[in-house]
Amino acid sequence: MARNEKQRREFDPERQARCLSKVRYESARIARKRAEARGLPLYHYRCPHCGFWHLTKKRVPHAAG
Ligand SMILES: [Zn+2]
Repeated sequence: MARNEKQRREFDPERQARCLSKVRYESARIARKRAEARGLPLYHYRCPHCGFWHLTKKRVPHAAG
């Protein structure tokens, strides 16, 4: 039972769906440029699902790059 719970947490279908609906950027630099171009306070973060970068309106604590 406990193992099942853990597995479910690691594979988060909701988060993956969010990933699929977002635009992917090859690098943090590109993601940041896009955010600047849109003139919005967007934050970039590395996606654990696809390994690419996404933009979010929420502040990311460890925005690297
Ligand atoms: Zn992703």
